[in-house]
Amino acid sequence: MTSILEVSGQRLRANVRGIDHTLAEAVAPSDGRAHPALLAVIKANGYGHGATICAPILARAGVPWLGVTDAWEGAAVRESVNRIELDGPPPSILVMSGPPGDAAGARVAAEEVVRHALTPVVWNAEQLAPLAAASAGDQPVHLEIDTGMSRQGVPPGEALQRLLEALGRQPGLRLDGVFTHFATAEAADARQTTRQMELFEAAVAAIFSSGGKPGWLHVGNSSTIDNAAPAAASMISRLHALAGATGARVMVRCGLGLYGICLPLAPDAPASERLRPRLYPVLTWRTTITSILEIPEGASVGYSATFTADRPMRLALIPVGYADGLRRSLSSRDGRTGGWVMIHNRRAPIVGRVSMNLTTVDVTGIGSMPKAGDDVILLGDGVSAEDHGRLADCLPYEILCGLRGVPVSA
Ligand SMILES: *Cc1c(COP(=O)(O)O)cnc(C)c1O
Repeated sequence: MTSILEVSGQRLRANVRGIDHTLAEAVAPSDGRAHPALLAVIKANGYGHGATICAPILARAGVPWLGVTDAWEGAAVRESVNRIELDGPPPSILVMSGPPGDAAGARVAAEEVVRHALTPVVWNAEQLAPLAAASAGDQPVHLEIDTGMSRQGVPPGEALQRLLEALGRQPGLRLDGVFTHFATAEAADARQTTRQMELFEAAVAAIFSSGGKPGWLHVGNSSTIDNAAPAAASMISRLHALAGATGARVMVRCGLGLYGICLPLAPDAPASERLRPRLYPVLTWRTTITSILEIPEGASVGYSATFTADRPMRLALIPVGYADGLRRSLSSRDGRTGGWVMIHNRRAPIVGRVSMNLTTVDVTGIGSMPKAGDDVILLGDGVSAEDHGRLADCLPYEILCGLRGVPVSA
């Protein structure tokens, strides 16, 4: 691997504190109950940052819950946390994608869940039997309610009642949590979110009145914490009120914000951001210059010869390309500049096409004369995942999840 994904533990911890403060302020003035807790989402290999690099840092910071993609990622995360000394109890780990739909896959996943003390998400009766069969007696599960994503989750009403009955017939399983997921958390107009919250509140009431006693209730994501547009801002306090009404503990699931990024609130409402100003990008994606080459005026650069030098130029070759997650859409186009990297603290624009494992950048204007072996910042101070997202016409989530390099903590 030719690049390093350097995770700043200091910044990750600072973001945890920023999220915590924002959650506390969202329910102020305090009424004596703890403010909503944080479930730190490290699925998809920690959004590209390395789940087993981030998990121990988050566990040491006292985060009570981690969220992973599947039982296998959960197993690796559990082992990474078991290897360190902790003052308090180890974090619980939520397996956020539902179990495999095939019998053999479901059985193996259930065994991993039990062996590594994970908490799976369930929403239909078929998912219960393999978990009950593997259970050592008190296996926690979290029940997802579909309030408007039409993805995972049981719809409130009849189907929910039947599922609660099915769960009641499995003594090896314990209803530890109930949650839902918002579809439009970054919208300033919170009509959809409000409707989803109402459905969730009603489902929670129905669960408690039919004898269910989940210990945790959770909703939302980074944008739910960030969004202080008047209609959206109340979601955290409504979640907090559920803790008062039920005695359960409550939490918000935060992924992107942990890594220092928030989606823009739509429509653009920067005055309503209450988390984003508190965050720091956690990742520095690094490599080094392979070699320097001087090209004459008229030389073309890269596949399809899309770039022709209009003057003598000095280029730096870097050993990273689209196979590593440096998007091909960052190539320079029609003489227009595309993406850039940072070398000696200066922008070095990409010239020509990004290829599979190689990219050339222009260092002609950098008077300090970069040379082979010098540090290159592909993402970090001076170039962000949002910049790449804008140029590649995709979300910062997609940029981060697509990175391939060696994760290390710094
Ligand atoms: C991925 C995910 C999150 C985290 O979302 P961010 O926008 O990254 O904070 C929260 N909840 C669920 C159910 C998710 O799948």
